[in-house]
Amino acid sequence: MRLHNTRPAVSAPADLGPSVLLEQGLQQLEAGITIFDADLRLVFCNRKFLELRGLPAHLGHPGTPFAAIVRHNAEHGVYGPGDIDQQVQDHVERARRFEPHRFERVLRNGQTLEIQGNPLPDGGFITIYRDVTEKRQAEQTIHQLALLDGLTGLANRSSFMQQLSAALPMAERQRQSVALMMLDLDRFKNVNDIYGHPVGDALLKEVAGRLRELFRRIDTVARLGGDEFAVILPSLNDRRMVRRIAQRVIDSLARPVMIAGTEIRTGTSIGVSFFPTDDTDPEELIRKADLALYKAKAAGRGSYHLYDKSLHEAVQRQKLIEEELRRALQRDELTLHYQPQVSIADRRLIGVEALVRWQHPERGLLLPQEFLETAETVGLVAELGERVMRLACEQANLWRLAGWPALRMAVNVSTRQLQTHDFVRAVRDVLAATDLPPDWLELEITEDSIVTDADAVGRKLLTLKQLGVSMAIDDFGTGYSSLGYLKKFPVDRLKIDRVFIKDLPDSSDDAAIAEAIIKLGHSLGLSVLAEGVETIEQLDHLQAAGCDAVQGFYYSRPRPAEELADFKAAD
Ligand code: C2E
Ligand code: MG
Ligand code: MG
Repeated sequence: MRLHNTRPAVSAPADLGPSVLLEQGLQQLEAGITIFDADLRLVFCNRKFLELRGLPAHLGHPGTPFAAIVRHNAEHGVYGPGDIDQQVQDHVERARRFEPHRFERVLRNGQTLEIQGNPLPDGGFITIYRDVTEKRQAEQTIHQLALLDGLTGLANRSSFMQQLSAALPMAERQRQSVALMMLDLDRFKNVNDIYGHPVGDALLKEVAGRLRELFRRIDTVARLGGDEFAVILPSLNDRRMVRRIAQRVIDSLARPVMIAGTEIRTGTSIGVSFFPTDDTDPEELIRKADLALYKAKAAGRGSYHLYDKSLHEAVQRQKLIEEELRRALQRDELTLHYQPQVSIADRRLIGVEALVRWQHPERGLLLPQEFLETAETVGLVAELGERVMRLACEQANLWRLAGWPALRMAVNVSTRQLQTHDFVRAVRDVLAATDLPPDWLELEITEDSIVTDADAVGRKLLTLKQLGVSMAIDDFGTGYSSLGYLKKFPVDRLKIDRVFIKDLPDSSDDAAIAEAIIKLGHSLGLSVLAEGVETIEQLDHLQAAGCDAVQGFYYSRPRPAEELADFKAAD
């Protein structure tokens, strides 16, 4: 089948031979099509081609020289600025090579054409023009969506990583510094818990807007997830400038935000690391900025901290403890000491608190303060907590089988552990595995862990309560002081923190606080236990104030299980 160049390409002929049908078919195509012969003269083109290229009809006539079409394009700026004759000559020369080619051209009206040409066996070539504008736009959108955080429109984590990796070599060439800021909103979780997620989302958007205003166009402001933001500041020469900017960010985010008629206050802490002084590796820079952030948060809300080497050493120490702690869990180096809880009225042993100890192979017996925080930061605290609960329940069951009167084994539960989704199942499993009746177990929970994620925690505690497990609020008086939760949660006991007991009976303030907690507890039908009771005077005072039970060195330090067997409550 050959197409003849004797027929006008655009008008349909009367007789319908095979080539006519073919031509009609080609006219219907969604793509533009041209065929040139070996002398670079037009054999055929369809209407779509003329339309796509915006060519006048006469240039579609068979026999039109390739050069005439190219010249028209060149005169209409299709090939960009430049000498027209030169452009025509270049195109003709290239066409004469009769090589397969494929490329895309973005037209001045924004359309994108995909142009694909192939040589024909008898010389000449056939070219197909496709409008790929929509396809490319869709790809562009997907690309942007992949790089932007859907909620705030800031860069997302993956584009942040790309930008950071690109910024470092550039700064190196220009002998400049890059600062990396990590930000974390204060109390964001509370906002979500108290006002709900839509308000939390609106707050994040407002924060994103304020951040955008504060930084230069060349800075990359990103949301890495949750309430975690990061900023890359390239082309820096002055650390002092970063301090000023950090302070400005803190001031800006400390201003309250109005959302749906409610005034919401948040704030931010910032950690900063610098390329190349602190590190040259992007991941390490992030880690170091995170460390600085950690430090800033520890120093109190609304502050910033620049990374320094001493942080590094603290982290090395922490890493070492982390490794050792993992090993400790594997090798059963954790043991428990038990401290008696004594009822004031009849000086009877009513329970014991299990307190974790680490029998370290080189360093001896370690107290929780030396490793719990690390366990918390490296995510081992839930595993550790489960181990403790199992050991404690095993021990309690041994005492039960040995004929001890019923007592409560009080086990401390950390916030993280309580937040694990299978916490209830873990407690159930331990009870089942150790055969301990649930009413022998008491969980010690802090006020803070109840307030974080209150609904979920409330449900878990209720389920456990229904099993027969009891609950105590540990360190009462030092945490988040919202008393409303006491009514909502299935609590049995308040443990007055020992800071209020320490200076009894001399400190009238502490005496007033202790008495108020005892009254509050009783009015809610709760039992009240005082922690850290060391002297008879403290005990007498608490007895007079109506306190139900005590725990402290006065009766006994925490001791290993064997030694507790001969514990007799002193009278
Ligand atoms: P806590 O739950 O308030 O435990 C009471 C702490 O006070 C214990 O410290 C205990 O030794 C100490 N203590 C008891 N009586 C007295 C006293 O008369 N005077 C003084 N000065 N201190 C007294 P320890 O064993 O060092 O534990 C510290 C904290 O570590 C505990 O405070 C608890 O929050 C946490 N902890 C201990 N074991 C565990 C555990 O297995 N899991 C979790 N998540 N936390 C634990
Ligand atoms: Mg406790
Ligand atoms: Mg306590």
